[in-house]
Parts: sequence; structure tokens; C-alpha cells
Amino acid sequence: MTGAISPAGTGMSKQAEREKTERLEYGSHERVSPYAIMASYGISAKKSLGQNFLSDLTVVKKIVDAAGVGPEDLVIEVGPGLGVMTEILSERAGLTAAVEIDRDLAPALDSLSLMHDGLEVIYGDIMRVNIGEIIDRLQAEHPELRRVRVVANLPYYITTPIIMMFLEQYASRLDSLTFMVQKEVARRLVSPPGSGEYGAISVAVAYYTDARICFEVPSSCFVPRPGVDSAVVNMSVYKERPVEPESRDNMFRLVKAAFSQRRKMFLNSVANASIPGITKERVSEALDELGLDQKIRGEMLGVKEYAALSDILFKKQ
Ligand code: SAM
Repeated sequence: MTGAISPAGTGMSKQAEREKTERLEYGSHERVSPYAIMASYGISAKKSLGQNFLSDLTVVKKIVDAAGVGPEDLVIEVGPGLGVMTEILSERAGLTAAVEIDRDLAPALDSLSLMHDGLEVIYGDIMRVNIGEIIDRLQAEHPELRRVRVVANLPYYITTPIIMMFLEQYASRLDSLTFMVQKEVARRLVSPPGSGEYGAISVAVAYYTDARICFEVPSSCFVPRPGVDSAVVNMSVYKERPVEPESRDNMFRLVKAAFSQRRKMFLNSVANASIPGITKERVSEALDELGLDQKIRGEMLGVKEYAALSDILFKKQ
């Protein structure tokens, strides 16, 4: 694990020297110094892009372990940053495609990709690059890459849109998603109906994946240090989903309507959502048909109930 912290082409002795100064041992935790890496390439962290770099190599390795990355995997990393996790991913995965929005990080990332055949760095916004095309191309070139895993220490400013984009647009292409996110977001992702943290994204995560929080990560493991602690969530994508509504779009229309007014009763939120053909009477009948309380709120309903309600409410008459 040296490439991320030493410019390409440096001699071994210089490299070893840099390793010695940049890696400090704190008990059992091995550290890198993102500030030293940034200084050696003349780059600085951008708050606007959520650049809180991991400085704890033990944590980085734990994330890669939690993701279960192996030689048959194509890994998509969102936001490689200075490349510390990228390097470990590219050592363990068959191939790693790392998508980074910030071209100013190119000196660090390009020298890393020169040293690792199994690494391709793509500069672009993860919300705009065509991930389907990247997967198609790399799997065509490398048919042995049977699984696709997404791994990231996500930028906090855009966590939810990135997770929803992967679930909604690419779930069928993916095997797992392993994300480091803010601790509160992690709880939201895995929370069950009825808990204060349960929201529309919890329903989406439960529909597409079997999710769990793997471990928590204190803010002291990042540079610059963020104001919040983090947690790593592993989402294993269902090949056969336990719950399948007749129309996924319709089910999520209900979910959206229910959570747009989360303190209101499901009956009123959905009736007020102006969904063509969905009257208050129909919602009331559907709740009765499923034996659900007329006063139930959307935050008490699980993905199974949403699917059943959607099948009844959108059934062609
Ligand atoms: N993976 C590195 C680490 O763990 O140290 C960096 C993680 S940092 C929290 C988030 C990274 O995502 C930054 O490198 C940032 O530039 C990048 N990023 C932010 N927005 C992005 C976007 N829309 N598309 C791709 N990368 C993005």
C-alpha cells in the first residue's frame, strides 16, 4: 500500500522514507496522513465537495472487508479522493472503476492508476456519468468479472441522491453497495417502520436490499475532521426480492405521498396527493381490505404493506 502516498516514478528509498513519515501507528490503528499526501501533490481539500479523507488505514481495510471484495468483482468506487481506499480496492478486486468529480485530484489518482493495471479512474459527476455503460464495457472486456459492487466513503452533501440513483437505476446490475455515511443517515437507511428515523429512503433500501450497519467510525478517522460521526452500511442487493408489487413506480408514488406529510394519516396524505383515480374513499377501502387502521400513518407501514396497498389502489377497474 504505497502508491497513493508516493508520486509515480519515485525511487524505493525515497518511497520508503515517505512511508515512514506518513504512516504513524496509533495502537493497532495504522494511519496515513492526507495532509502530507495533499502537500506532496500541491492539492487541498474542498469542503464544497465533501472532501473528508480517511486517515485510518485500519478503517479503510475494514470497509473493503465489509464489502466482501474479491478477484471476480468489478468495483465501482464513488469519489476516490486521494486514492487510499482505491489502492486497497484495486489490489483485492478484479477491476476497480473509480469515479471522481474533482480533476484537481488527478496528480494523485493518475499516478496510482499507472501503478495498478486493475484501476481505471473516470473523471466526472457520479450523478451524470453513464454507470450502465461503464459496467457493460468493463464486463465485456473482462467476462470473468461476474459481480458488481459499489463501495464508497460518500460525500455528505449528496448522500441520499447517490444512494437513490444506484437503487432506482442500477439495482438489477449490482450485487452490493457498501457506503460510509453520516451515522444518522446510516440509521435511517436500515430503520424499521415505526421508528423515528424511518423514511421514504428506508422503504427503498428495504425493497431493493438486505441492509445492515457494519460498524461506526468516529470523526477522528477523517482529515479534515467532520462535525459528525459516520457508519458503514452494507446493502446486499436482492436477486429475488421478497416483496414485489405489480408496479414499482406506483408503489413509490404512494411512499412519496405518505412521507411528504409524515405526521398525517396515510389516508389523508395519499388522498391529498392528487394521484389520478385515488380518492379518499378508495384509500379507506384499501386499508379495510388489508385490515389496517384507518388512522395509520405512513411511517408505520413496511414495504410489504406499501406493495399490497399499491396493488389494490392501482388495480385496473
Ligand atoms: N474515498 C476518499 C476517502 O475515503 O478518503 C474520499 C472520500 S470524500 C468523503 C468524497 C469524495 O467524493 C471526494 O473525493 C469528492 O471530491 C468526491 N465527490 C464529491 N462529489 C462527487 C460527485 N458528484 N461525483 C463523484 N465524486 C464526487
